[in-house]
Amino acid sequence: MASVFRAAIERMAGYAPGEQPQETGWIKLNTNENPYPPSPRVVDAIRRAAEGRLNVYPDPDASGFRRVAAALFQVDPDWILPANGSDENLTIITRSFCDSGEMIGYPYPSYVLYESLAQIQGSHVVRLLLNQSWNWDSAAAADLRRQLRIFFVPNPNSPTGTLWTADQLTELLPDNGVLVLDEAYGDFPAHPHRGELLRDARFDRRLIVTRTLSKSYSLAGIRFGFSVAHPDLIAGMRKVKDSYNCDAVAIAAATAALEDQDWMLQNRARILATRDRLAAALKAVGFCVTPSETNFLWTTHPTGRHQAIYEQLKARKILVRYMKFANATADGQTLDGLRLTIGTDEEIDRLLLALTEIVASL
Ligand SMILES: *Cc1c(COP(=O)(O)O)cnc(C)c1O
Repeated sequence: MASVFRAAIERMAGYAPGEQPQETGWIKLNTNENPYPPSPRVVDAIRRAAEGRLNVYPDPDASGFRRVAAALFQVDPDWILPANGSDENLTIITRSFCDSGEMIGYPYPSYVLYESLAQIQGSHVVRLLLNQSWNWDSAAAADLRRQLRIFFVPNPNSPTGTLWTADQLTELLPDNGVLVLDEAYGDFPAHPHRGELLRDARFDRRLIVTRTLSKSYSLAGIRFGFSVAHPDLIAGMRKVKDSYNCDAVAIAAATAALEDQDWMLQNRARILATRDRLAAALKAVGFCVTPSETNFLWTTHPTGRHQAIYEQLKARKILVRYMKFANATADGQTLDGLRLTIGTDEEIDRLLLALTEIVASL
C-alpha cells in the first residue's frame, strides 16, 4: 500500500526520548529529572485545582502564571507565553517562524529534537559543529546567520553542560530570523540571568528564551514550560498555539512552583553540591569530565567503552544516557559518551560504586 503520509513524515525517523521504565527499582539518571519532589505548595495547588472547576475550560492565557513569571524575569506579563512543556515552546516557535523549505540551525552535539521539529515542518536543518572545547567557529556562525530563520541554542547546552556567554551568543542572531535560547537548565548556572539578555539591544528584540518546569522545579510529570520574548513576538506566537494548550491543574502547579523560589533554590544547591562531588570522584577513577553548569555531567572514559559501561550499569538497574553523535566533526567522526543526571547522594554513591567496579573490569 502506498504511504498516505506527507513525504516529510514518511522520510523521518522520529525523535527517540530517553527510556522511561514504568516499574520501580531503578536508579534513574538518564533524563535529567530532579531527584527531589516539588514544593508541598505545588501539591496543595494541584489538589485545590482538582477540587475546583474542572468542568470549564482553563484560562487560555494562564494570566496568573504570566504575572508570576513576568515578575521573575522583570518584564511585563505580555512578554510571557505558557506552553504544555518546553518541547511545546519549541514546536510553537518552529511553526511560527520557519516555513517549509526554509532553514533552522542548531549547535551540534546538542538537543537533536530540533532536528525532528524541522523535519515535521518540512524545513531544512543545518548543524553548527562544536569543537573540542564545545565552541563554534565564528566564521561558520557568520555564514549561517545569513540563511537561518531560527537558531536553536540550548544554554547551558546538553549533553555537554557548558554555558555560552552573551557575547558569544550575539554571533548567532540570524540576520532575518530569531535566536532561541533553550534554557531548560537556566536555573543551574552559578549566575543565572533574570531577563538581562532579553533587554540587551544587541539581540534586536529577536531573542526568545524558553524555560521548563521539568528540571529545576521538579515537575517533569506535569507538562509546563514558557517562552519569554518581546510582546511583538509573543503576540504572533499566541496565534499558533492551541487555545487551551495548558490545563487548569498544570497552570495551578506551575504558578505555585514559581512562587516557591526557596524550595527550588534549596534543591538546586543540593544538586550542585552532589554534582561537584561526583565530578571529583569520577576523575579519581579515570573518567574525563566536562565542567558543568547544569544538573548533569558529560563524561568519557579513555577506553572509549561507553556503551559497555552503560549496559553494565543497566544490568544493575542504574539507568544513565549513552549518547552517540554521528558526524560530530568536520571529517565525519562519531563522538560518544555518557550523560549522568545528578540524583540524590545515595543514588550517586551507588552509581560511583558500580562505575568503580565496572571500569576496573574493562
Ligand atoms: C528537558 C529539555 C527540554 C524540554 O522540557 P519539557 O518542558 O519537559 O518539554 C527542552 N530542551 C532541553 C535542552 C531539555 O533538556
